[in-house]
Amino acid sequence: MPQTVIKRTSSRQEINPETKKFEERLLQEKRSLADERDRIRRRTAEVEGSLPNEDAGEDEGTVDLSNSLMAKEIDISVNESLEDTIQDIDMALRKIHEGTYGICDICEGKIAKARLEALPHATLCLKCQSLVEGF
Ligand SMILES: [Zn+2]
Repeated sequence: MPQTVIKRTSSRQEINPETKKFEERLLQEKRSLADERDRIRRRTAEVEGSLPNEDAGEDEGTVDLSNSLMAKEIDISVNESLEDTIQDIDMALRKIHEGTYGICDICEGKIAKARLEALPHATLCLKCQSLVEGF
């Protein structure tokens, strides 16, 4: 009797312990970045809420206003880079489950372990990263 292989094909790849460690770091980092993002969003909302009305016409409010606007602009750019990093982390997490974690997106070579240790969400090897940044 031929053995039929009924082995369920799991959509989840077997994750080796080393990659598992990176996954934990990535999830942890993502959590703290998401917290940071929420904090900035709340603060931006507060600044918006505290901006004086245009028709209030109070001189003493002017300095505060420009400070608030500046703080808001800084928050927005910080928030954007946080979003970028969170996206990179999501990408790396997806690669972990696809079994391609640690493989460069461009040249498909292995990303040096030291690089992943320093930057767990790296999706490019050092060489390709510097090529991309050179553009
Ligand atoms: Zn590469």
